[in-house]
Amino acid sequence: MPTLNQFVDEKLNLLGQKHQRRALREAQREQAVWVVCEGKKLLSFSCNDYLGLSQHPRVKQAAQDAVEVYGVGAGASRLVTGNHPLYTRLEQKLANMKGTESALVFGSGYLTNVGVIPALVGKGDLILADRLVHACLLDGAKLSGATLKRFAHNDVASARQLLDKHRGDFNHCLILTDTVFSMDGDLAPVADLRALADRHDAWLLSDDAHGLGVVKQYNNEQAAHIQMGTLSKAVGAYGGYICASQPVIDYLVTSARSLVFSTGLPPMVAAAALEALHVIEEDSMLGQKPLTLAKMFAEAFDLPAAESAIVPLILGDEEKALAASVALEKAGFLVSAIRPPTVPKGTARLRFTFSALHEEQDVVRLIAAVSKL
Ligand SMILES: *Cc1c(COP(=O)(O)O)cnc(C)c1O
Repeated sequence: MPTLNQFVDEKLNLLGQKHQRRALREAQREQAVWVVCEGKKLLSFSCNDYLGLSQHPRVKQAAQDAVEVYGVGAGASRLVTGNHPLYTRLEQKLANMKGTESALVFGSGYLTNVGVIPALVGKGDLILADRLVHACLLDGAKLSGATLKRFAHNDVASARQLLDKHRGDFNHCLILTDTVFSMDGDLAPVADLRALADRHDAWLLSDDAHGLGVVKQYNNEQAAHIQMGTLSKAVGAYGGYICASQPVIDYLVTSARSLVFSTGLPPMVAAAALEALHVIEEDSMLGQKPLTLAKMFAEAFDLPAAESAIVPLILGDEEKALAASVALEKAGFLVSAIRPPTVPKGTARLRFTFSALHEEQDVVRLIAAVSKL
């Protein structure tokens, strides 16, 4: 296949020149915040397992118990023979935590967004998305065929201007936002966006991938009409979900193609996620810890006050961010450099995430290492 290899080689060379080439590195997570990379043990400030629940004894036990009884895979799409009763319990718990009538669990957060958005809007409809929303919301928007327009980050007035100008030209309108922005850690004005959506007969979908378990959850009237999230981050397991009204969920069951045409989440993963949600509910202080540590770190560098477990340190170009990440690794810390196209050009950064399993002393040592950069 000479032209194929030639084609990809050229692409890779080009990315290399721009310092945007990425590669997989083995990283074995032993305890939630310690990672072995190429034989070296590093303290990670790069995991989204904010509460350490991926390694929690109760969560691991729930997965093991489920494996013994139900085996590993779901065996089919949920609409065929894959609709395990554990999903119902998991969905009831999620709906209960979010204060919605119903919920629906998908294979992953990514699969949720690429399935749900095209089920709700299409050609002749309008999607307004915050400038910094996660890639999978944009992929869902593209798949839908609706017209996509972007509003300035966290700028309700900018969204309103777009609605005033364009809403009348389209049938339905869907507004997309993250609740916690994944690469910036700041919070969206969800309640204001919800009110704006209601005034313009638009629907708001919020992506709470980095919120559940860490940041305060909105109540029903202030929350989005469609609340999406993942079980892969603070919940420590895997999978995605939608929380919404019963009619919306009933409709998504038959219309979201990533649910209809993809095998259900492994039951053991559903069992683990359910147990993790119980842990989150029982220990209301658990989510405070990563937030407290993030605030402490941000304060040390005069950054805006942290609102979530994510703190970015924007360095500018790709080379600078990569060099900083390598220097921190030499000091024993794993902190990933985030580069375009994940973030806008000129905003390459270190992205620090804090966990309930970090100690205050860990953050003190991290601050010292970052100060030397
Ligand atoms: C990680 C992430 C997703 C995807 O969730 P997965 O369960 O990992 O597929 C979706 N949205 C946001 C904002 C994310 O950060």
